[in-house]
Amino acid sequence: MEEETVSGETVSEETVSEAAGIPGEGDGLALEVDWETGRVRGPLAPGLYLVATPIGNLEDITLRALRVLREADRIACEDTRQTGKLLNHFGINTPTVSYHRHNEAGRARELVAELLDGGKIAVVTDAGTPGIADPGAEIVEAAIAAGVAVVPVPGANAAVAALIASGLGMDAGFAFHGFLPAKAGARRSLLEGLLGRMRAASSAGEGAMTQVFYETPHRILEALGDVEAVFGGGQRVAVARELTKLHEEFLRGTVAELRAELAGRGSVRGEMVLMLAGEVDAVAEGSGSVAAAVRRLVTEGVEEKEALKRVARERGMGKSEAYREWQRGKRK
Ligand code: SAM
Repeated sequence: MEEETVSGETVSEETVSEAAGIPGEGDGLALEVDWETGRVRGPLAPGLYLVATPIGNLEDITLRALRVLREADRIACEDTRQTGKLLNHFGINTPTVSYHRHNEAGRARELVAELLDGGKIAVVTDAGTPGIADPGAEIVEAAIAAGVAVVPVPGANAAVAALIASGLGMDAGFAFHGFLPAKAGARRSLLEGLLGRMRAASSAGEGAMTQVFYETPHRILEALGDVEAVFGGGQRVAVARELTKLHEEFLRGTVAELRAELAGRGSVRGEMVLMLAGEVDAVAEGSGSVAAAVRRLVTEGVEEKEALKRVARERGMGKSEAYREWQRGKRK
């Protein structure tokens, strides 16, 4: 029986019909069928496997992910306890080793040495696709440099799941930015730069790319405040919360609407993805300034000083910085 290697896995020439009964049954090996060729895949070949895991719903694990996790020599995990729960659930006993931001470089060297010895190593993170706003890139680079096979095992990813159900256009593609900066100043600059580039693309007649960010629940209001300040309250956005989980939710509308909705909830919980529509034609520059936001609250009956304090808090700004912007805005 002839054998070849496809995408890091040994593939035999045996076909489904040739394989007796259910592929892999009785021989102790979890064999897999390539549905295009009908050929049976043999045991896992040596290499580095980047395995996506669910972002909430355990049913989103793939059959291939389970097989790779089961057959690997070791699983390098962002958090061995977190992955332990997943492995337990699926009855997988493969040994784990920690691989995270703080030991990434050292561990990558160690794992590459194992790979060069013919090891089969799976890399997983706490949830989703390794290397996407998560550890993974260093070991991939090291493995490629060492001439070791690097094999993606695709699956759940929060950005893509959020995007496809956001209702925001994708004809012109999308841009993924990972997390927005935690500091207000850096976040504002990033958004301002982005708006500049989106405007330039629009005037050049290029399509409008949807912009995708990861965000944390404790910063979402500040982030929306900054989007409003920079892009204007009419900017179309979407927030995807708790994807694939019991309380999955999509909020769609203008940034002003979503900010009011979330601010009204008292506390915002859960993991979330923030998306900005690519069209910048409707962008009303300056409508989201501190002064405009204060004015809006005042018309709603909030006392001016309190309004300024609230706007500063929502945008993660210091009191004096907010005061200066407010004064500047009032002069316009
Ligand atoms: N590697 C992961 C992936 O492929 O999506 C992302 C890891 S990153 C450290 C975690 C961030 O992803 C969260 O803060 C949130 O922005 C987003 N995220 C992860 N799971 C999510 C979920 N179930 N619903 C919404 N956003 C999620």
